[in-house]
Amino acid sequence: MAQPSAIRASGIDPFSHDSTAAAVERLTALVEAQARTIRDYEATLAHSRYIFERASAAARLGVWECDLASEKLNWSDGTYDLFDVPRGTALVRARTLGFYEPESLRTLQTTRSRALKERKPFSLDAAIVTPKGSRRWIRIHATLEGAGDAPSRLFGIKQDITEEKAKLDRIQYFAEFDDMTGLANRNKFQTHLAQICGDEPTRRAGGALLLIDLDGFKEVNDSLGHMAGDECLKAAAHRLRIVCGKASIVARVGGDEFAVILDAPHDSGARQLAARIIAVLSQPIHREGKSYHIGASIGIAAIDGCLAPDVFRNADAALYGAKAAGRKTYRVFAASDPSS
Ligand code: GH3
Ligand code: MG
Repeated sequence: MAQPSAIRASGIDPFSHDSTAAAVERLTALVEAQARTIRDYEATLAHSRYIFERASAAARLGVWECDLASEKLNWSDGTYDLFDVPRGTALVRARTLGFYEPESLRTLQTTRSRALKERKPFSLDAAIVTPKGSRRWIRIHATLEGAGDAPSRLFGIKQDITEEKAKLDRIQYFAEFDDMTGLANRNKFQTHLAQICGDEPTRRAGGALLLIDLDGFKEVNDSLGHMAGDECLKAAAHRLRIVCGKASIVARVGGDEFAVILDAPHDSGARQLAARIIAVLSQPIHREGKSYHIGASIGIAAIDGCLAPDVFRNADAALYGAKAAGRKTYRVFAASDPSS
């Protein structure tokens, strides 16, 4: 008959004439050794768990899994913290989906369905609003697992990327917008104009570029200081934004130079808009009890059929014509007109 393994391991021969006390002593020692081993494993496991939770908290991430058949969720403490849900709360997937902002939820559901169909891992960034009302951006990494053909489990990591996203948004903002006026900057304007004009000179139906340069702006700087000049630029940008509601872009492309694009097909409003811009920018600007007087000159160039650099050059030539004509006026570029 085979001996039980614990007895075999203890070296005790149940049929020998060893004293019962010695046998009990050796068995007790064996049980204690095994208990010590189990305690060591538990301590190692507890330490690993502690390190994992500390590292997760530092990295603001949590682990999650979802059983696909039952939709049962399992979150680590880090994931509970990410969603501001008390640790250990029973989770209902439909309710947790309610934390996602509508657009992020749509992206999540589309991406998840596609990943399940194609049996591929996926990653995405999503915006959530926690039960405490905090808005957060989280990055989700998910992996599929399952025996045979059908995946049975999704699991992965969710990480708080709110700060990273804010920094990226800021970088993106400064790459595209002018900090002082909040208008599109030259870089964004050039990209936009190039998109409208295309790579090939093709005939488009309408569209115009208006290049605007303030008149007598240096005088404000020289007589009232650079800060007053900045205030004038901000006020001019504000007025432009209001008056150019139909424009596809209003940009600050230089010191006191702005650009407006009308790209609607058959748009014939460029001249009317130019006249209106000149009228509003010629109104005195009142700031902190002072009044500043500036004006604006405008060059207009048709967009149809030209490449972006040519459109800009044409508008610049027309602007030069407007300045030469005495300022506070506009000129439309005509290839045959040497004054534009
Ligand atoms: P013109 O009527 O011929 O257009 O002359 P202007 O006095 O308007 O001066 P001009 O357009 O030739 O030059 C623009 C000036 O704007 C030059 C520069 O010192 C000033 N400027 C450029 N950027 C800024 C800025 O960010 N803030 C301030 N306050 N001034 C600026
Ligand atoms: Mg100027």
